[in-house]
Amino acid sequence: MPAFLIDNLKILNEVIEMHWVWIQNTFAKKQIQPRNKSQKPPMRIRTLLNQCHYLKSFVYENEKLQQHDGSMSVIVDIRPRKNSQPVCSGCHQRGGVYDHLRERLFEFIPIWGMTVFFCYTMRRVNCQACGVKVEAVPWCDGKNQLTKAYQLFLARWARKLSWKEVAESFQTSWDKVYRSVQYVVEFGLKNRGLDGINAIGVDEIQYAKGHQYLTVVYQLDQGRKRLLFVGKERTVKTFLGFFHQLTPDQIDSIQYVCSDMWKPYLKVIKKKLPHALHILDRFHIVAKLNKAVDEVRREEVKQLESEGYEPILKKSKYCFLKNEANLTVHQEERLSELLKYDLKSVRAYLLKESFQAYWQYQSPYWAERYLKLWCNRAMRSRLEPMKKFVKTVRRHQPLMNNWFKAKKAYSSGTVEGLNRKINLVTRKAYGYRSYDVLKIALFHTMGSLPEPEMTHKFC
Ligand SMILES: [Zn+2]
Repeated sequence: MPAFLIDNLKILNEVIEMHWVWIQNTFAKKQIQPRNKSQKPPMRIRTLLNQCHYLKSFVYENEKLQQHDGSMSVIVDIRPRKNSQPVCSGCHQRGGVYDHLRERLFEFIPIWGMTVFFCYTMRRVNCQACGVKVEAVPWCDGKNQLTKAYQLFLARWARKLSWKEVAESFQTSWDKVYRSVQYVVEFGLKNRGLDGINAIGVDEIQYAKGHQYLTVVYQLDQGRKRLLFVGKERTVKTFLGFFHQLTPDQIDSIQYVCSDMWKPYLKVIKKKLPHALHILDRFHIVAKLNKAVDEVRREEVKQLESEGYEPILKKSKYCFLKNEANLTVHQEERLSELLKYDLKSVRAYLLKESFQAYWQYQSPYWAERYLKLWCNRAMRSRLEPMKKFVKTVRRHQPLMNNWFKAKKAYSSGTVEGLNRKINLVTRKAYGYRSYDVLKIALFHTMGSLPEPEMTHKFC
């Protein structure tokens, strides 16, 4: 073997030797240590709570299982951190401890079908500004027994289910669900912004089996449609209530207002929004026309009956009222049969159909001309309800024309959709006992209100 090769082999052996020693040393040092149990705390309820509902100046401890009100409950004690001073509920400044009150339970979000309570002994603060006051705690407001997190949890579910269903799902009462929704809505109303509203709509809603009215105001802006106001009855005073909560600048920013033909509303709009373009809403005009057509039909049914004719008009209401596109096959056949007769109802129906052309115009001028022609024709129809409708139209003609001036921007679909949604809420079996409850429910579903902030999303 050549000498240079023998030298290289020697070097190679030395290198391998060195590596081997290094490998042995390393593994000897890195032997796996036996697990020290005291290093990692076991998973406890408080570990979970600190993850999802951390309290800055308080500590969770001592979780226990206990019977409470006939069901198994998890009770978690809370105590203040060492040397932390209580916060005054009056001025939110810290102060010295005056004394301790009795232990109280606060209901938190249930887990695995068990109720959860925080148990805490409230302190009283010796506040320099307010005197002796109960402390404020971050998980709860005032005298409430439900924690904020639980209230927000229930209120969020109350958007998806009826209040009764929420109460049943989480083994709580209807009343607690209601109070939770109320808390969230009140927070939202206090913290919402009312700047930059460009278009509003005002509407009247029947409730309580149609005996009473509500006044509602919506924001109708593109991309921002929400309920702004709910007031009892439909008087001038009610609607003025909406303007009382706005600043003069906020009122000035309103450029468009949609309404129906209810006089008190027209009066308030004239007074409060003289600068805005007032549009009579198409949805309400169509509804009035439909009502007139139906009146003609009902009178004719009675008349035919008393004169002893066949009841050809029976069950024909929706053949005349529905849009042609929405008729069922049966209704369509029925309608084409009815149109062969010389009936008042048919004349009213044809007038209603020809009124639709009015909405197709682009120019306010031509729309107005068409409306005048249509009104003359309707007046010659000798149908009293239709003549009454014409009188209404003539009275409000300039406002109707504003719809074209606004370039049809606030279509009937928007107002109709909101109107339908409101009716759905009012009719839904939430078990509303009063106007106040209904108002809370309406704002909760349609107010787009801001919610109290939580670091963790519980649902
Ligand atoms: Zn104070």
